[in-house]
Order: sequence, then structure tokens, then C-alpha cells
Amino acid sequence: MQVQTSGEQKLIHKRVDDVKLYINGQFTDAAEGAAFENINPFTNEVNNLVAEGRAEDINQAVAAARKAFEEGPWGRMKVAERMKYINRIADLIDEEIEEIAYLESLDTGLPISQTRKMTSRAAENFRFYARMVQTVLHGESYPMDDEFINYTVYNPLGPIGLITPWNAPFMLETWKVAPALATGNTVILKPAELSPLTANKLAEVIHKAGLPEGVFNIVHGFGETAGGALVAHPDVKAISFTGETTTGSIIIKNSADTLKKTSMELGGKSPLIVFEDADLDRALDAAVWGIFSFNGERCTSNSRVFLHKNIKDEFVEKLKQRVQNLKIGDPMDTKTQLGPLIGKEHFNKVKSYIEIAKEEGCEVVQGIVPEEVKAGNFVPPTLLLNAKNDMRVCQEEIFGPVMAVIEFETEEEVIEAANNVRYGLAGFVWTNDMKRGHRVAQAVEAGMVWINAQNVRDLRIPFGGTKASGIGREGGHYALFEFYTEPKVIHVAIGDHHIPQFGK
Ligand code: NAD
Repeated sequence: MQVQTSGEQKLIHKRVDDVKLYINGQFTDAAEGAAFENINPFTNEVNNLVAEGRAEDINQAVAAARKAFEEGPWGRMKVAERMKYINRIADLIDEEIEEIAYLESLDTGLPISQTRKMTSRAAENFRFYARMVQTVLHGESYPMDDEFINYTVYNPLGPIGLITPWNAPFMLETWKVAPALATGNTVILKPAELSPLTANKLAEVIHKAGLPEGVFNIVHGFGETAGGALVAHPDVKAISFTGETTTGSIIIKNSADTLKKTSMELGGKSPLIVFEDADLDRALDAAVWGIFSFNGERCTSNSRVFLHKNIKDEFVEKLKQRVQNLKIGDPMDTKTQLGPLIGKEHFNKVKSYIEIAKEEGCEVVQGIVPEEVKAGNFVPPTLLLNAKNDMRVCQEEIFGPVMAVIEFETEEEVIEAANNVRYGLAGFVWTNDMKRGHRVAQAVEAGMVWINAQNVRDLRIPFGGTKASGIGREGGHYALFEFYTEPKVIHVAIGDHHIPQFGK
């Protein structure tokens, strides 16, 4: 356990074990022996070395996953038995919450209070899908008078490639791994190169849970090489991807030759609309949390906040106070609310958008990063005031702690502006006029809209976006029926129906 006790318990940043690939039940170096450095966003020092998988490693992992699917017991196991493994994974994650949360914060700079919650949600992903498979995953039957019954069965696909981002790595990995395994598929996970640590913790947990060899594999490495080889591999039946819109588009193109099924969870630029009759204090809490939690690196963040002109000044004053008061600091400190961004490149990208905002005419208001944490990739919490929806900072995903504030006057105007963007992941509407709340929620072009709430989600709902924010839905039974299994129809004759007698 990476915890140092000195009076009060204090989590420290330190170098951790190197990370290997996990193929066919073994932790192994990359075939070509390559490795890359994994950097801590708070110190910008090396956390560890990570085995760099390439095409040969992907080939081995896919071969193991294929063998485990075709010859192994996994897909054919009795459901209750397979679910014992899935529930065991959940229990083992729960036992390791502290360690996993620590590694996640070390790797990503996400505050420890948030990674603890995400880890416990990750365990729930496994329990949830164990329940779903046992209760919901069944076929339908279609009786055709007294002549036939047609019925469906839902089968796993085979080896599936899962490609995940760095912003909430463990949660998002388990979000895919849990339904993929619970439905009887085998898996090759390619985690983001910037956040490899907790993926290997998942491999350790799965190893400890005793899953058969080859059912779950991890190949670390870079997108174009390891990810690209996984997408192109003919034995991989489907790719579930979460990440940037441009990457999603490349993956769809590259999966065309092998006709893969794909699921795309992509970027966002989500609106939060506050009408003048809203509960302003609650709307304020939600708006601040929605953009500054996860260090602003949240796909569903409310990066565009539309304020009705009658409440704008009051709301902006309160936003300014919140931005000054946010606790910015060491991700290992339980009081920290905003940590450093994932890496230098992303840090520079987010900072460049703040310069663009100034050039575009926004008033920029920022919190203050304490001097003692300046070694980290800290971008202060930032408000872009007097923003206009057609500015680049309102159209492009910044993916940092940066909120653009836009004034509006009428419902029609705000709906038009909210929708005038290429993305369509989430939306948030604040009003106490319920008719208006529903009207606006239905008009906002997004996969998910909340009325008078922040992003709180029942695991049963369809998760995903429209427009450039994604194709397809995961979550709940959508993951089971629409992605991780496919239906087969069996037609049964139960009488002596007419058969044409050609050539008799
Ligand atoms: P990214 O697209 O850069 O990388 C995501 C993953 O794709 C990584 O594992 C990367 O190695 C891999 N990859 C990159 N190029 C590839 C290629 N050519 N072939 C195969 N794999 C490739 O995204 P990121 O920067 O890690 O994550 C941030 C993005 O993710 C943001 O746009 C955010 O909105 C989005 N996101 C979306 C959701 C959602 O559910 N819609 C959730 C979280 C994050």
C-alpha cells in the first residue's frame, strides 16, 4: 500500500513498479522489448516505465483471446458460474479501492476524493452487469399462429477490442470490460498511454479472480501502433472506443476493411442553460461541479454556460467567488478539488485556448494556483466571460477547467445557440417551469439531458451522444443487446405447414 503514515496519514507521490502487458494470463514484456516513460502530472517526474506493445503483441493477445473464446470454458460456462467470477472481480476491486484510487491519482492528477468514488463505481459496474445478464439478457419469441415459433438468442461476439482514454481510466475501462466479459466475450484492452497504472491493477484483480487464461488481455502502447493494430486485426469482432472525435473517425475508417462493429463515445461541448426562474444556488453548485470536477477533463462537462440576461450579473459574481475559493493542489490531498492536467501537451493546449479566448474578446477570470504546486500541469479554474457561441472557445472541445459564459434572452435563441455546435453529448437545463424544462430538454440536441440536476446517472440508462459526440449507446441493456451480443433467430416449425413443391 503506497501510504506513508507520519502523524496524520499522508499519501505521497513516488515511483511505482513498471507496468507490463497482460497476455494469456501472464504479465509480460513487449515482444520488441520497448518501453516508455509514464509521467506524474503533479510532479512531472517519472512514475514508472510501461511496456510498449505493438502489432506483434496485439497478434499474441488476439490469438489468446480467440483461443479462450473458441476452446475455453468462458463462453460456454453456465451463466451463474460466469457471474461468480464477475462478482468476485467487483469484491476484489472493493478490497483494493485505496490502492487503485491512489494509483489513479498518481497517474492522472485527479483528486483522490474523486478517484475513490470512481473506483467504487467501477466495482459496481461489474455487479450491475452480473445482475443484468442474469435477469435481462434473454431473447424474445414470436409465435406465428399454430405453425411456427421464431425465437431469438443473444450470443457473444468473440474477441473484442476496447480502447479507452485517460480522463477517468479505471471507471471507463470497467464500464466496457464488465459487460464484455459478463456476456461471454473475450477482451483485449488498449488503455490510454497516459494512464496505464490502474489498467494493470484490473489485470491483477482479474488474475486473482481466477479467470481462464486469455479471457482478458491488456496491451499498452500508443494509439497509432497498438490501437491501430487492434482495430485492423481480422479476428477482432468489434471495437468499443471512448476518446476524441477525430480518433473515432480514424478508427471507423480503419475498421472498415475487416467490417467490424464499432461503438463510439466521443467528445462534447455541452450546454448548461439557466433560466431566470431557476433555483440559482443549486444551478451554481451544479455548474461549478460540472466543469471543475475531474479537473475539467470530463466528456459531459458543461463547458458552455448560458445565463438569462436578468440573472447573469448575479450568477457571474457568484461564479467568480467560487473560482477564487476552489481548492487547487496536490491530488493526494483529500481536500483538493482541482488537480493538474494529465500531461504537458494537454496543458499547453488548454492554455492556448485561454489565449484564443482573449483574442476573441472574452474577459478571462481565473483562480490562483498556489506557488508550491507550480511544478504540476495546473491550469487555474477559468471563466471566459462575455463569450459568444460562435467563438472557437465555444465551438471546440477544450477539455480543461474552462467555462465559457454566454448571455441569452429568449428560449428560442438559447435553444438555437445550444444546438449550434458539432457536438451533442449532454445538456443541462435549469428552470422551475416544468413545461419549459421538458420543452427545452427535448429540443436540445444531445444524447443525455438533465433538468435541474448535474450529471447523475443511473447505470441502466443508455449512455452516449449524438452528432460528433458518438455513434451507438452503451450502458444498461443497450450495452448487452446492442453492442456486446448479437441476436440469432431460430425458426421452428411446430406443424405441417405448406412447403412449395417445386419440380415435383
Ligand atoms: P484520444 O482519442 O486521444 O485517445 C483515446 C484512446 O485511443 C487512447 O487509448 C489512444 O491511444 C487511442 N488511439 C489514438 N489514436 C488511435 C488510432 N489511430 N487507432 C486506435 N486507437 C487510437 O482521447 P483522449 O485524449 O485519451 O481522451 C479525451 C477525449 O475522450 C475527449 O475528447 C473526451 O470528450 C472523450 N471522452 C468521451 C467520453 C464519452 O463517453 N463520450 C468519455 C470520456 C472521454
